[in-house]
Amino acid sequence: MTHLLLAVLVPHTTTVDNIAEHLAAPLLPLLDAHTIDGYRLGGGCTGAWDPGYDATLDPRNWRPCTTCDGTTRVDGGRCMDCLPAATAGLAVGTVLEWNAAQWAPHPGDIVPLPRLLDPAWSYPKGHTPDAWVDLAGIVWLDTTDAKLSGTDTGGTPPRLRQVFDDLRTGHRHPKPPGSRARFDPARWAVAIVDAHH
Ligand SMILES: [Zn+2]
Repeated sequence: MTHLLLAVLVPHTTTVDNIAEHLAAPLLPLLDAHTIDGYRLGGGCTGAWDPGYDATLDPRNWRPCTTCDGTTRVDGGRCMDCLPAATAGLAVGTVLEWNAAQWAPHPGDIVPLPRLLDPAWSYPKGHTPDAWVDLAGIVWLDTTDAKLSGTDTGGTPPRLRQVFDDLRTGHRHPKPPGSRARFDPARWAVAIVDAHH
């Protein structure tokens, strides 16, 4: 199973509570075409563009330890499975949820589009998107090899610059047919989506 980091265009009003409805329209065609088999906000990429957040230290992602039933004691000694919680200052007797697909949605995974358009913006190492997705379709950004080989610079990929230019000049239409309003970046955000295939 291969994981992809998709940057998905969503309305600026999108929150973790209504994200599902805003991801469905642009991503359903990719599911139908078997380009991807599944997706979710964040997932293994949770917090990818938010250096101030670590999903593995979010108390919402820790579960009672099943080795010791949360007692921290096993066979008369310290349960080693849930020792990391104590050293990380998290609830004693808990362990990190191993399945990133179960991690709690992080509001920081929905980023205002103008932040990505800022010339000073750069993607944290290894977290440049593999593809851009909006209602006009998917654009592969040719970044996957650089990410795998560790040579990804975090700069906005040329193909993504082209997408941004096309959006601003009206050559790319991420809106349903009939909506003719000029593209305004302030009315959009980008969701970090972990897709697999
Ligand atoms: Zn334990």
